Amino acid sequence: MPLQDAHSLRTLLDSIDGKGYGAYKRLRGRWEIEGFELRVDHVQGDPFAAPSRLRILAGGRHTGLPSELCTPGARAIGTACCLARAFAEAARKCRRGTGSGRSGELRMEAPGQEVLEHSALRVGADGGVETRFRLGLPARGRRVMGREAARLLLEAVPALARATFLKGGWDEAVLRRHAEVNEDADALRDALAERGLLAFVAEGALLPRRSGVDDRPLEGPGVVPFRTPPSLELTIELPNAGPVRGMGVPPGVTLITGGGYHGKSTLLRALQAGVGNHRPGDGREFVVTRRGAVKIRAEDGRAVTGVDISPFIGTLPGGRETRSFSTPNASGSTSQAAAIMEALEAGAEALLIDEDTSATNFMIRDRRMQLLVPREREPITPFIDRVRELHAEHEVSTVLVVGGSGDYLDVADTVITMTEYHPSEVTERARAVAAEHPTGRVAEAPGPFPPMPRRVPRPGSVDPSKGRREVRVRLRGEEAIHFGDEEIDLSGVEQVVSVAQLRAISEALVLARQRVLDGERSVPDVLDEVMAILDREGLDALGHGHDGDLARFRRHELAAALNRLRSLEVEVELR
Ligand code: ADP
Ligand code: MG
Repeated sequence: MPLQDAHSLRTLLDSIDGKGYGAYKRLRGRWEIEGFELRVDHVQGDPFAAPSRLRILAGGRHTGLPSELCTPGARAIGTACCLARAFAEAARKCRRGTGSGRSGELRMEAPGQEVLEHSALRVGADGGVETRFRLGLPARGRRVMGREAARLLLEAVPALARATFLKGGWDEAVLRRHAEVNEDADALRDALAERGLLAFVAEGALLPRRSGVDDRPLEGPGVVPFRTPPSLELTIELPNAGPVRGMGVPPGVTLITGGGYHGKSTLLRALQAGVGNHRPGDGREFVVTRRGAVKIRAEDGRAVTGVDISPFIGTLPGGRETRSFSTPNASGSTSQAAAIMEALEAGAEALLIDEDTSATNFMIRDRRMQLLVPREREPITPFIDRVRELHAEHEVSTVLVVGGSGDYLDVADTVITMTEYHPSEVTERARAVAAEHPTGRVAEAPGPFPPMPRRVPRPGSVDPSKGRREVRVRLRGEEAIHFGDEEIDLSGVEQVVSVAQLRAISEALVLARQRVLDGERSVPDVLDEVMAILDREGLDALGHGHDGDLARFRRHELAAALNRLRSLEVEVELR
């Protein structure tokens, strides 16, 4: 498509003023405005539909971004997230003007506290910026408002660009901080891997959030900054921040204990969020966890398809075998067992578990219960009898919040206790208590983990079509996906960080169906291939090709979505 100038755009808008809304379709194309390029990719069908999709492309000459803020990878991503937030914020404040339906609505889906690759705004190595947003093209009734459209496209949008990513719009110190902090967080995660650690929490980090629905840091005089227990202290040298001191979480089995309301779950939640990076000022910039750490919880009612839960759940009432277990309606314990086996299948490095969201009978069976209910009548092998084996035989560590069951002291490598939001290491003391007060319970695992079966999804069972439409995929709220005729509930998948990520996951399922599933590839093979496509082609491999509302996700969240699809069918090959 040829590049047309701003004058032609104004002439076009004048000429369609007062015409039917469909005349806006003529806006599709490329327009040069004040040295940048405006692309109209998609024009909404009517003023009440989802606003039109637009892009701005500006070269490095026009943004003036210094090259060290645009180095591909962590730096460019940090810079891009900062610019996207600024653009989205300025767009929210834009005067909407008059008009029917969503006229004048201007918005970008910018990242929140998280920092990750995002399609809303991208920074190229040459300092060029591509930004994607939506604009409700203005209408009176269903008629084009040409002059108002000219105000939006030729004044409001360029003003937004000037105020955010064009030369003079950005503050170098602010951008530098975003780029450097993000680079440091990645370096910190790499350092964890080198030292064999699971996670790191920097001295002074702010862990509590404002609420369950507000991910910003809790503020006020009552907030207690993180204090490093001396015995777990270490210092890691970062490329920009220099030496950073904090708590290293060692591999193996780590318990987080302490009284109710003393901050146990808050620490675990910070660790589970630490698989991704956070913006400067978040409080968790240097709270970092290995990428492969997966939060596990009970989720009764979910579907499970062909999962080998036998390490945790033996033969069920009625003689039902569990090496290929399927149910449309899992119990607390079977859902938690399935979540662990699915995480292992997807290549988890660590499991993060909170007693608050666990099934008690999955976690523990104490001495008295062992005496009352004989082993032969209890299908469950509780997690306590598998957690050491997971580390010794499968190199999968566990961090576990337990305030309730002291039986776990027997299986812990490290015990941390929270007191008034301050952690201390009490491993020695815990050992002494365990030695002095034996529980008398006997280990119940019947044998080692059997080899993981291969699960091969049937392509036809992952079906995004609905009626005559080949692909119909939508989000329902912030925690569920409408996928064809199915609904996938991800409200129990806590490590999904944003709606943009959820949308990308939903589109990745479509991609999996269209390009990857072949009736031969196993679940981990499918995950490998989808992630490889994203690495090669970027987020534009998903959706329409230039959507602005997608964010990168981990293989584990994609696996979680696939595993919760109720129509999923798999071929199970026992090994
Ligand atoms: P637990 O799991 O031990 O019962 P939580 O982690 O749920 O405790 O924390 C209880 C409350 O204390 C929550 O409202 C949380 O936001 C708050 N909180 C946690 N850590 C801190 C902290 N460091 N400073 C201030 N408040 C905190
Ligand atoms: Mg708790």
